[in-house]
Amino acid sequence: EKPEFSFRQTLHMRRNFIGKSCKLHFEAAPLKISRASRQYLYDDTGQEYLDCINNTSHVGHCHPHVVGAGQEQMAKLCCSSGFLNEQASLYAKHLVSTLPESLCVCFFLSSGSEANDLALRLAASFTKKKDVLCFDGAYHGNLATLVEISPIRYKRLGTAHQQKEWVHIAPTPNTFRGKFDASSENPGLLYANETIKVIEKAHRNGREIGAFISEHVISASGMVVPPENYFSIIYRYVREQGGICIADEVQCGLGRCGEQYWGFQLHNVVPDIVTIGKPIGNGYPLAAVITTKEIADSLGDFSSTFGGNPVACAVGRAVLEVIDNEKLVSSAKNVGKCLKDGFKAIQHKHPMMGDVRGVGMLIGVELVMDKESMKPAKEAAEILTYKMKERKIILGFEGKDKNVIVLSPPLCFTTDNARSVVQNFSEVLTNIETEAASVGLTSLDNVGSNNSDNVTIDVITDQPTISIHAFSDEDDEEDEESAAKRARYEEVD
Ligand code: PMP
Repeated sequence: EKPEFSFRQTLHMRRNFIGKSCKLHFEAAPLKISRASRQYLYDDTGQEYLDCINNTSHVGHCHPHVVGAGQEQMAKLCCSSGFLNEQASLYAKHLVSTLPESLCVCFFLSSGSEANDLALRLAASFTKKKDVLCFDGAYHGNLATLVEISPIRYKRLGTAHQQKEWVHIAPTPNTFRGKFDASSENPGLLYANETIKVIEKAHRNGREIGAFISEHVISASGMVVPPENYFSIIYRYVREQGGICIADEVQCGLGRCGEQYWGFQLHNVVPDIVTIGKPIGNGYPLAAVITTKEIADSLGDFSSTFGGNPVACAVGRAVLEVIDNEKLVSSAKNVGKCLKDGFKAIQHKHPMMGDVRGVGMLIGVELVMDKESMKPAKEAAEILTYKMKERKIILGFEGKDKNVIVLSPPLCFTTDNARSVVQNFSEVLTNIETEAASVGLTSLDNVGSNNSDNVTIDVITDQPTISIHAFSDEDDEEDEESAAKRARYEEVD
């Protein structure tokens, strides 16, 4: 089926009408994805790509059971959330059944950011303390309050951002890159002591922590799994001081970590508030806060027009059904293990593979210039994702230095997919390592989306052997019909 607007027209409109700060994947050579199914994306020419990053499409892109449930409810009733609604009641009941007993009251919203913002409000209304403790490698969302507790994001922007007095920042307990490594005796305790020092400093300054918010696999830092004991010590300490603990499960929840439904269960702790988003609607905007009755009742008033609408809840219910019917939690464990073991098995032959980590289907591979200096291989990570894209495999890169290759695919990902990713990754990284050893790597920074006249971009200095074909206006020959459409659109321009 021919798309109504060509790649060129779509990109042209985007550049004109959508904020420059809204980044595209593969900014230098973006993809126009026209449809998707299971763990595969299809571009406007019908080319298939293996999707290793869309954790939002948790049970698989356009899963028929989820699509059917949404369509059916959409045709019956889709209104704002003020009426008694069977879908919301049933969904809340099912969701609560997946959590520890104390977490028994739901609030529905439409994004992870809204959920985290409400969690902070609930914490403040319950504890009567506004201050928040977070990790320096955290990202919790795009609302004004959440940007303040997402240091990794605002630090990267390089703005003259001042840390707010109500925010207290603890070091990310990262045993690959950080003050304490995995060979330290009890790194969990050592990192917990560092966090306690941050809390004590806050006290000395007359501040009191109302909430500790964290992911339990820190995705924004490149799938960092905090060491054993860390969370149990900090949860206890924060609570002794009159604060509560919030688990941001937006990325790592709903079975993604394998074995259990929730990331915090890896660490044997029970939070006071859990926030979920991304995967729970399989792409449909849906998020939730789940907390104890006491905390929920402390909030005077709350309403969200779209949160908990019948279509969202019907979709959410269908997602939970698919997870159970298709045994996706154990699949996350088994296929995730195959993926991680595959990367571990090739690590020794790659000087740039510094660390392989993660759990279930949340995997990070940290690239370094060499294993001694451990200097982050930032350019290599970006180049690798472009070269993998040429092989029709979509990967992401994350972390403070953007040098961690991350994988968080739909849970229908197979062991064959995992093997193919590892094989291709190894071949591509070998080429990059050879080039890095002989001539060094430069960055792709000059290949921004506003640079439309680049054709072939050389990313290696001197000897341009690795090159990336970036999008150019010449690439896309226009037929008469699309030229006419574009002329029509440009009149509006
Ligand atoms: N928390 C975490 C851990 C996230 O990764 C994100 C989104 N990347 C959010 C919160 C915010 O979710 P949303 O984009 O749906 O607002």
